[in-house]
Amino acid sequence: MRYSANIERLKPSATIAVSTLAKRLAEEGRDIINLSTGEPDFDTPAFISDAAVEGIRGGQTRYTPPAGIPALRKTIAARLSERAGRAVDWAGVVVSSGAKQSLFNAVFSLFGPGDEVLVAAPYWTSYPDLVTLARADAVPVFGPPEDDFKVSPSILEAARTDRTRGLILNTPCNPTGAVYSLDQLTVIARWARERGIWLICDEIYRNIYHEDDRSSAAGLLDVPESAIGDFVLIDGASKSYAMTGWRVGFSYCRSDVAQKMADLQSQVTSNTSTPAQVAALEAFGNVELAWTSVRDMAAAFRRRRDLVVARMRELMPSVPFIKPHGAFYLFFRVDHLFDSEVPDATAWCSRLLEETGLALVPGAAFGDDRWARMSFAASDDVLEEALCRLARIAG
Ligand code: PLP
Repeated sequence: MRYSANIERLKPSATIAVSTLAKRLAEEGRDIINLSTGEPDFDTPAFISDAAVEGIRGGQTRYTPPAGIPALRKTIAARLSERAGRAVDWAGVVVSSGAKQSLFNAVFSLFGPGDEVLVAAPYWTSYPDLVTLARADAVPVFGPPEDDFKVSPSILEAARTDRTRGLILNTPCNPTGAVYSLDQLTVIARWARERGIWLICDEIYRNIYHEDDRSSAAGLLDVPESAIGDFVLIDGASKSYAMTGWRVGFSYCRSDVAQKMADLQSQVTSNTSTPAQVAALEAFGNVELAWTSVRDMAAAFRRRRDLVVARMRELMPSVPFIKPHGAFYLFFRVDHLFDSEVPDATAWCSRLLEETGLALVPGAAFGDDRWARMSFAASDDVLEEALCRLARIAG
């Protein structure tokens, strides 16, 4: 079978082996703990779901403009301008079917054959594939593990060529939980600006931050305007409001580029599902209730982060890991556990699953198959049991 040139370059998902095995073992009646997924374990807050139901009953079930309901775009712009302390033009906001589509829109609108896009690594698994689908070349760039793999201008400069057109950064980061400070983000933004490089900053985990000092977790809009060149900010409702299945993300960038993204989206999917947009309008618009939900969920994730970190140190002192400052993943190193039958984390995760029933994601999905990722978006009991199972193999 001959597929299109775009699709020929698409690699099978690095998580497929483990997820297929997990499914088979579950069907065989095995007790599986699945900590491989990337979503909050909470339900969408009731005030958000209720708004969607009311919207449906009130007839909000028709097409909207491709870039989203204007009231939603304006509300998102209002939240962004509060954050930035300066006016944010709602014409730059495009609402999409999840942050994933926002990223697709950005990458497809900005990059193509011959372009290189630096991807801060370890990376969320879809970034390189999205770049590849646009027929540009993804170039993973790793920062030092001792600094949570965070990249800096000197590291980026070493990877830059005259074909470099973009940089994709994720803070807080999936899979490491690393968080860039304002200073770190500012020097990177300035580096990109001075070289005419588009900075795509994925801040989908922005509200899931585990430290007291909020100022050490910066977003792109905290960076002084004079330091920022061309950028696309990516965010959405999925992680902040436990709305993964609703599929609402957004991008914010220059309005001419936003218009191109909306044009692209109008040919691919048109508007994000209208009831989901109505729900998102409530999530982004009802600031008081939303803040309470976000605060409570973030507090639960922080408690679980503390639990997981403490238990890792107790039960598996020889397993190196990155202490997560944001998001809800623990990224830990497993190559000292490899042997001739288990030469990489993909095989190691299969062994772990087979022998203990614990499903994790091998580092191949994030660019380094010496590591593995465990989600801690689960109850304390489940996490305790998962860590005991992990210690059986890794302790
Ligand atoms: N960006 C990162 C870093 C993610 O981890 C995810 C989902 O896991 C997404 C984007 C996609 O978010 P959405 O569900 O809004 O498409």
